[in-house]
Amino acid sequence: MQFIDLAAQYQHLKQRIDKRIQTVLDHGHYIMGPEVEELEQQLAAYVGVKHCISCANGTDALQLTMMVLDIKSGDAVFCPTFTFFATAEVIAYAGATPVFVDSDERTFNISPQDFEKRIQAVIAEGKLTPKAIIAVDLFGLPANYPELEVIANKYGLKLIEDAAQGFGGEINGKRAGSFGDMATTSFFPAKPLGCYGDGGAIFTNNDDYAALFRSYRVHGKGKDKYDNIRIGVNSRLDTIQAAILLEKLAEFPKELIVRNKAAARYTETLAGKYTIPFVPQGYLSSWAQYTVISENRDVDMANYKAQGVPTMIYYGTCMHQQTAFSALGYSDAELPVASRLCKQVFSLPMHPYMGL
Ligand SMILES: *Cc1c(COP(=O)(O)O)cnc(C)c1O
Repeated sequence: MQFIDLAAQYQHLKQRIDKRIQTVLDHGHYIMGPEVEELEQQLAAYVGVKHCISCANGTDALQLTMMVLDIKSGDAVFCPTFTFFATAEVIAYAGATPVFVDSDERTFNISPQDFEKRIQAVIAEGKLTPKAIIAVDLFGLPANYPELEVIANKYGLKLIEDAAQGFGGEINGKRAGSFGDMATTSFFPAKPLGCYGDGGAIFTNNDDYAALFRSYRVHGKGKDKYDNIRIGVNSRLDTIQAAILLEKLAEFPKELIVRNKAAARYTETLAGKYTIPFVPQGYLSSWAQYTVISENRDVDMANYKAQGVPTMIYYGTCMHQQTAFSALGYSDAELPVASRLCKQVFSLPMHPYMGL
């Protein structure tokens, strides 16, 4: 059994994907070819936003949000401590200070209550200016945007959705990628919608932000890439990856149904044994991971291994526990829920080709 079976997916889509790649090889527009624009339009339509700007990977997508929002030294940007490193990395890379927020113990997502407490603490301390929050759709479940939006608005913070794992998720029919002021995703192969290399995208309804993203991703271009009106980066999605993603996106709605069936089956069999993932009323998960809480993680994982079932730990280290952030001086006692999750969670195989 595979943890994520990309080979089975390729076998299923082989003819269509091979044909799309061949088309790119024939026309030869490897950078910013027609498939890139076609994909951006389809992604924007699927997510339900005005603009999609593709880029080289999900980390760059987040970094570009920091650039567009002019996040810099002296700014506080809030993010969950229980996430993948990139979420917090881009904040520090921009020169700002990440402020780590604890998790909701049922959804594993950022806790709105703790978010508000930490904004108040930053204001009270008076050293940093609260500027933005990057909320994460962890394991495929959208964060609590209805509550996060109210708090972000109350304190004048920009809200960024990190939907690297959340693409395909929904809250009351509104899709991941459409929450907050801007959203990002990743097309890393193992994500719910993945390509065959690195890829990423940004979503927004704001015309000014969209224009800035398009400029920053190609060397801060003005009218073309030899007219440079600001300092940018080189972060484009390859045409071949866009071609692959067009075929994968066409199949994605079907895959999402199978993922949810697989999750429901896990829930049925594992409910008495572990604390199983909680999906609030009105929410849909894209099940990037099926993650359980276990009191005996090492034993349980060893048992699965003996049966030939691969398992993984996402994540064994919170951001506040990372060496790179040790200078920020957090303790586990300040972030108790996430610190416990890091010790107790593990994830089971999850992909849309599980033989249902
Ligand atoms: C994967 C991931 C990213 C980074 O995406 P890359 O394409 O690998 O750069 C960012 N945030 C989260 C939550 C992720 O899971």
